[in-house]
Amino acid sequence: MPSTNSAVKDIYCSKCDARYEINKVLNLCKCGGPLLLDYDYEAAAERMTKAVLAAREFTMWRYLEVLPVLDCDNVVNLGEGGTSLLPSTGIGPQLGLASLYFKDETTNPTGSFKARGLAMAVSRAKELGLDRLIIPTAGNAGSAVAAYAARAGLRCKVIAPKDVPEPFTVDCVYHGAEVELVEGSIKDCGTRAAQLVEDEGWFSVATLKEPYRIEGKKTMGYELAEQFDFQLPDVIIYPTGGGTGLVGMWKAFDEMEKLGWIDGFRPRMVSVQAEGCAPIPRAFEQGIEHAAEWQNPSTVAAGLKVPSAVGDFLMLRAIRESNGTAVAVSDDELMIWTKHLAAREGIFSSPEGGASVACLKKLVEFGFVKSTDKVVVFITGSGYKYLDVLK
Ligand SMILES: *Cc1c(COP(=O)(O)O)cnc(C)c1O
Repeated sequence: MPSTNSAVKDIYCSKCDARYEINKVLNLCKCGGPLLLDYDYEAAAERMTKAVLAAREFTMWRYLEVLPVLDCDNVVNLGEGGTSLLPSTGIGPQLGLASLYFKDETTNPTGSFKARGLAMAVSRAKELGLDRLIIPTAGNAGSAVAAYAARAGLRCKVIAPKDVPEPFTVDCVYHGAEVELVEGSIKDCGTRAAQLVEDEGWFSVATLKEPYRIEGKKTMGYELAEQFDFQLPDVIIYPTGGGTGLVGMWKAFDEMEKLGWIDGFRPRMVSVQAEGCAPIPRAFEQGIEHAAEWQNPSTVAAGLKVPSAVGDFLMLRAIRESNGTAVAVSDDELMIWTKHLAAREGIFSSPEGGASVACLKKLVEFGFVKSTDKVVVFITGSGYKYLDVLK
């Protein structure tokens, strides 16, 4: 069996001092904290030099030494990652910004950046001999886990809210997943999934409730560094739900410093949410460590309708340590900018990407973003599955 040469060491808790062996099947730490992966960065740096890296295929699997899969045969790959970093042609000049870029995640398999995290989680599930995966989802995560589970030959169950746009469940069914629709928000789906874990023994791959999705999402940080020739941008704007992308990139920057690839400079990390469900901006303003649950969440940006997140404190920590901020935008604003993205940049985005750009406009007005700042806005998903919302 060909080894990936992964330099993974063990698993540690983000809250307490607990450490776990890499081959243990784990969800959360026994203290309830999300689990993260640790690596031997010296060994990784020796094997994965910048020159070695440059010769590899541009997908997220080019960073194998700092990814947790041990055996190449367990890598479940549909070509995820390696997405374009597009310089803005219309919106940047309009807002007076000299260096605005879009990280275009719409081109990932299954139409969103959820592919990165779930490719990793499914690969590790296969490696650990798990064969039944369950996920609570607002849409994109379900599509992604269903596709990767199909490719790996694993069973899969997707729990989504009743009002999930139909295209998200059509592809799940085509991939052979069982789909169950639940009254309420993703929070209620999480409760139902937890019950099925208890009653029927499924393995949950809910956001940050297993250690591997974040390892897939962190590759966005590695890619950005490479695409900017290891000079990180000044500001990163990211539409946040469960927060794996934000927390994952923040982890990636620390890792790259340990690898000797970058210095201590860090982008200011900005979390965007919708006014109808904004627990992170509210907690950020209140200066508190954990975000209280948002009551009666409502927004067309389904991926942002996450009323409470197990990794809230990790998001808030990254935002604060980076001197970033957290902003809520209205559904009207995010829909307008979703249109502008299509009309002025040629990017057909889901509403979450529109939220990022709506946020950018506000930050320019506030003076948080300066005209000379190098800014990256994440366009996290494609508009094609949201036609009902967009038309
Ligand atoms: C899930 C999702 C988000 C939120 O991502 P997190 O990493 O969970 O914060 C944003 N945009 C889209 C399109 C999504 O599907």
